[in-house]
Amino acid sequence: MDKLVSLCKRHGFIFQSSEIYGGTGSVWDYGPLGVELKRNIKDHWWRAMVRSRDDIEGLDAAILMHPRVWEASGHVAGFTDPLVDCKTCKGRFRADALHDARCPQKPSKRPGEWEACDLTAPRQFNLMFKTFMGPVEESASVVYLRPETAQGIYVNFLNVQQSTRQKIPFGIAQIGKAFRNEITPGNFIFRTREFEQMEMQFFVEPGTDMEWFERWKAERMTWHLRLGLDAERLRYHQHTPEELAHYARAAYDVQFDFGGTLGFQEIEGVHNRGDFDLTRHQEYSGKKLEYFDQPTNRRYVPWVIETSVGADRVTLAVLVNSYREETVEGEAEGRTVLGLHPALAPIKAGVFPLVKKDGMPEFATSLAADLRARFPVFYDESGSIGRRYRRQDEVGTPYCITIDGQTATDQTVTIRERDTLRQDRVAAVAVGDYILERLAR
Ligand code: ATP
Repeated sequence: MDKLVSLCKRHGFIFQSSEIYGGTGSVWDYGPLGVELKRNIKDHWWRAMVRSRDDIEGLDAAILMHPRVWEASGHVAGFTDPLVDCKTCKGRFRADALHDARCPQKPSKRPGEWEACDLTAPRQFNLMFKTFMGPVEESASVVYLRPETAQGIYVNFLNVQQSTRQKIPFGIAQIGKAFRNEITPGNFIFRTREFEQMEMQFFVEPGTDMEWFERWKAERMTWHLRLGLDAERLRYHQHTPEELAHYARAAYDVQFDFGGTLGFQEIEGVHNRGDFDLTRHQEYSGKKLEYFDQPTNRRYVPWVIETSVGADRVTLAVLVNSYREETVEGEAEGRTVLGLHPALAPIKAGVFPLVKKDGMPEFATSLAADLRARFPVFYDESGSIGRRYRRQDEVGTPYCITIDGQTATDQTVTIRERDTLRQDRVAAVAVGDYILERLAR
């Protein structure tokens, strides 16, 4: 993880937020390459969940919602973690996760295991961030930063259904920020206090819910595999009766093996939520959230299958999965590679003149400009060609195009493939199609 954090900073993927003020351990900023990587992951999700289907609609609901929403959803009363303080080291821990924590002053021990530890009794701590709407800071104007995007979907269920004339079964999908005042954020972008979720709520007829639950459970695993995550690093975790929310009929997490001390951890949850959410919003708002099924002339509150995945957590999984250090035959120095799926790579091609003379930079600059109209390209003429290749390997660029002495005579260039190191000689005019065709694979 340390190597990855350092690579992310060095190449402009991820920076600590407010670093010049000492930073925060719980919020991170995406730099020029990171914003592209995360956007590619979000696009991949949006395409799979919204654009390529006719039974899911997109939505972008606001972060600030009516405070009653969070009473109805159960978050005001129950979105809490048990918090314990240590009076000796002033550390704060989740009482239900002490087995995973370390005493800051005696890292070989868990909090409470060392004789100097002095833990308080657990108290419930609400994870929602509170703020005030309008100029007066009083209890009547309290609003919350949403801790999940799902509620924006539930309260808009009828708006979306009636405006699109969708018939059940259908879903609503959203990508957006969520905020949780986590007691123990950490592990880079794994657990942060501000993060992005990609959530989809699928509304079904009661009685068909388990069938849809199984379909979505399988579908979501396929999505992670298509993203390039290794099959042996992915698994399902079925919620035990203790983990299952009281209203949930079934829940599985998709877990990814982050390696090291983290190991397998949740990256996505797939839940059968029954009719809990819409029924509660009906009760609290006094507005009906029923679906009218014309063929059977029946009204009912649909049941919900939810798929909820963290954009940042998947970005971390993709980075961990793709990071590798390897030796190169015939070279003393090894190389570090981000073996990103080409569709996710922030830069699709590096364009290099072999040397800074004989018209090579001019040819390369013009080729780079042509290609930039089709996909992100990085032009580099500084340093040895080997160093330029290594730099692109480290940021996951799948192709490097080199303009050399032969280019002026026959208008061809070499294309080097990141993973195999294979070099193909290709007509310069055909380079764009060559790469686009491979990006689509
Ligand atoms: P955890 O048990 O890890 O706290 P959760 O079960 O509370 O997670 P959900 O409420 O199901 O998580 O949220 C769905 C997804 O949102 C998670 O699978 C994860 O990818 C992402 N997520 C949740 N909390 C955070 C966080 N603090 N930082 C980054 N991503 C998060």
